[in-house]
Amino acid sequence: MNEQRVYLDHSATTYIKPQVFDEMLPYLTTHYGNPSSIYSLSRATENAIDQARERVAKALHADKNEIFFTGGGSEADNWALKGIAFANKHRGNHIITTKIEHHAILHTCEFLEKNGFEVTYLPVDSEGFINLDELRQAITGKTILVSVMFANNEIGTIEPIKEIGKICHEKKVLFHTDAVQAVGHVPIDVKAMNIDLLSLAAHKFYGPKGVGVLYIRKGIKIENLIHGGGQERNKRAGTENIAGIVGLGKAIELAQEEMDAENKRLTYLRDKLINGLSRIPYTKVNGPVGNKRMPGNVNVCFRFIEGESLLLLLDSKGISASSGSACTSGSLDPSHVLLAIGLPHEIAHGSLRLTLGSSTTEQDIDYTLRVLPEIVQRLRDMSPLWHTFLEKQENVSKPAV
Ligand SMILES: *Cc1c(COP(=O)(O)O)cnc(C)c1O
Repeated sequence: MNEQRVYLDHSATTYIKPQVFDEMLPYLTTHYGNPSSIYSLSRATENAIDQARERVAKALHADKNEIFFTGGGSEADNWALKGIAFANKHRGNHIITTKIEHHAILHTCEFLEKNGFEVTYLPVDSEGFINLDELRQAITGKTILVSVMFANNEIGTIEPIKEIGKICHEKKVLFHTDAVQAVGHVPIDVKAMNIDLLSLAAHKFYGPKGVGVLYIRKGIKIENLIHGGGQERNKRAGTENIAGIVGLGKAIELAQEEMDAENKRLTYLRDKLINGLSRIPYTKVNGPVGNKRMPGNVNVCFRFIEGESLLLLLDSKGISASSGSACTSGSLDPSHVLLAIGLPHEIAHGSLRLTLGSSTTEQDIDYTLRVLPEIVQRLRDMSPLWHTFLEKQENVSKPAV
């Protein structure tokens, strides 16, 4: 039984699907020509990049000239924020984002603050949603950019992107969204959703790591992040990661084809897992319910226990999961997202994120629901906090003498 391997960390990264790998392989071996070269060996790679760009454009309802390949999601986020900030500093120095962004956004904002920009970090409610009136009020004459993530990587909240974009456009402010968790999983239409810039990364939807995209709406002025050769129409230097780009293109196309059926399947499994976990006493489900939550996201807090010990015991049962976000689970800091939705430190420490995906079966969910309650009980039995709590409970229920 312990030999069973259950991967429930699809928001951290995914495997490369075989169909994606098959398309990538020739570009790692026979088709190695530098796309910038003149000879015919390079034609195949040039065409492959072109086809991938078209596939991405189609998935986002964008134009192919608005798609720029990057070295992943973090680079796309850095480029969007720094590129827009430096191209617009004559217009203003104010940027608005949220408290629950990925560190690729938050740490970039901190860097910009050290370089003369001012950043407003919007709060979120108990389910992780920003307030549209607060956004409207935060925009000033100096605001140049609003950056709000499409879907949160920890608690699965899907923000009201179209409405946010509408407010930004009414106020003549640019709107960027970190859609790294959303692309390939929920429908996106950059035009209908009023999005000016959007970041995505292939490895979150069964493509390779180290390749992503920044969508930049036509006509937007942006400074380069990576300077050098003339690749990506003079906007992003560096010899193209051709195999990666080809993989990204195939992965996004596959994801579009499978999206509806896969979302139904994942939503059913997600809700089965959430309902099962809710039966464990003193458990809190974090994030929204229903269709405003990512289909594969489950996030719960078990009171009186540490997320870290939970992960180790789960791992010993063959289950890969995470606590907080992948980038912070090496540390003991509680998640900034859970603190932002109002959880106290001691509860935020006991959080568990289970993210479902293409490899997840109903047996995986049943197995997890079988082993998790025992693990939680075992950890509580060892927890001084739990025993103190039980003693207090007993005193309360004893009749006064
Ligand atoms: C994974 C992730 C990133 C970073 O993408 P990389 O490709 O790992 O650099 C940024 N934002 C969000 C929301 C993510 O989930």
